[in-house]
Amino acid sequence: MANRFCSGYTVIWFLHDTNMKHFSYYNLLLNDSMYLNLPLTLYIHIPFCQHKCPYCDFRSEVMPVWPEAEYMAALQRELAWRCQQLADDRRPLHALFIGGGTPSLLAAESVAALLDGVQKRWQLAEGCEITLEANPESASLDKMRAWRQMGINRLSLGVQAFDQARLSWLERPHDLATARQAIRHAQQLDFTSVNVDLIYATPGHTEQQWQQELAEAMEWGVQHLSCYALTVERGTPLHRRWQQQLWSPLDEEQESRLFCQTRTQLQQGGWHGYEISNFAREGHRCRHNCNYWAYGDYLGVGLAAHGKWMAADGSLLRSCNHGALSAYLAALADDTLPEQQHPFGQTQTLSPQEVGQEMILLGLRYDGGVERRLYRQLTGSDLVEQQRALLTLWQEAGWVEWNEQRVRLTEQGYLRTDALISRLH
Ligand code: SF4
Repeated sequence: MANRFCSGYTVIWFLHDTNMKHFSYYNLLLNDSMYLNLPLTLYIHIPFCQHKCPYCDFRSEVMPVWPEAEYMAALQRELAWRCQQLADDRRPLHALFIGGGTPSLLAAESVAALLDGVQKRWQLAEGCEITLEANPESASLDKMRAWRQMGINRLSLGVQAFDQARLSWLERPHDLATARQAIRHAQQLDFTSVNVDLIYATPGHTEQQWQQELAEAMEWGVQHLSCYALTVERGTPLHRRWQQQLWSPLDEEQESRLFCQTRTQLQQGGWHGYEISNFAREGHRCRHNCNYWAYGDYLGVGLAAHGKWMAADGSLLRSCNHGALSAYLAALADDTLPEQQHPFGQTQTLSPQEVGQEMILLGLRYDGGVERRLYRQLTGSDLVEQQRALLTLWQEAGWVEWNEQRVRLTEQGYLRTDALISRLH
């Protein structure tokens, strides 16, 4: 990883935190006037799916024919507009993440045009991580080869289970054989990192079954695993079926046993549990997500995409794009976008209080924790001084630890993440 930022900045890569034996992913870039700059990443949302999974509340559309060409044109216009808005911002992209939805449904030419559109407008930092999310049923060997050749270096596969009955219950459009074949193909093509997404705690999911699934995940030799407990999101078919008593989730204790098993089994297998649900082999943490949890800057392009970045005057801005496809496409239908407005969504300035809440929410799920110096810079107060009584109690209980650099949860604290974070808000 190289420093290719503008001159005049002091660069501190991978701050070594000796007390906690932790290499922070966080890079603080401070210029002469101590105006604070953060690593910049870009997220592009592809909102199309072949089928709506009953548990999913991500912004995605299922339609017989999706308007791929129109949407790609809209993305190019938004990229151009955002680049123009950040014309004074010389930061290169530290990572690019094409997520969804199902980006693997796109024609390879569309992905290539998208990458081209990004590279025409932003410099990519050396070793820039470029991730594409793919579902096994739409990730053919030919497509994967094309992605690899065009510069995608990280593939994230939505496998979800190494068990056919669980895949069927989750109503995934792929079967187990297709999932295994997709991993095999990805391995052959030598992506720098391959991630496998898994969901646990489906009804009847046992510790023995999960142990075998995790063992298989590790045996595949991928570099990254994301393991999420099934959550029942309001408004989803799964939520409605639950209300109709057509199924029942695992109870809290069973889910918590599976959570502990995940962390223990993977960490014993040499994986770093660097976020509550994310595990990586050495050197394979997801840069884009680390930047997000560490409160770096990121631009969000596409339907319902969110971004957060620091403007030239030091204020922190949050952008939220339209969530309705027709409104998003209509706002980007021609080339004459107004320079100052944001016609495909809204931008707001974050207050120091909102910033503090977001930093706690994101940082405490992550082993980098909340960086105290950054927290002070952005909110004007010190998290430990602000919450000393509560944090001391939690420290005595073994749930939280802190030093001069950061505040973070312990393994015991991770079991209570939501409850602890809500107390700090
Ligand atoms: S494929 Fe992914 S984004 Fe699409 S509906 Fe299923 S879980 Fe949601």
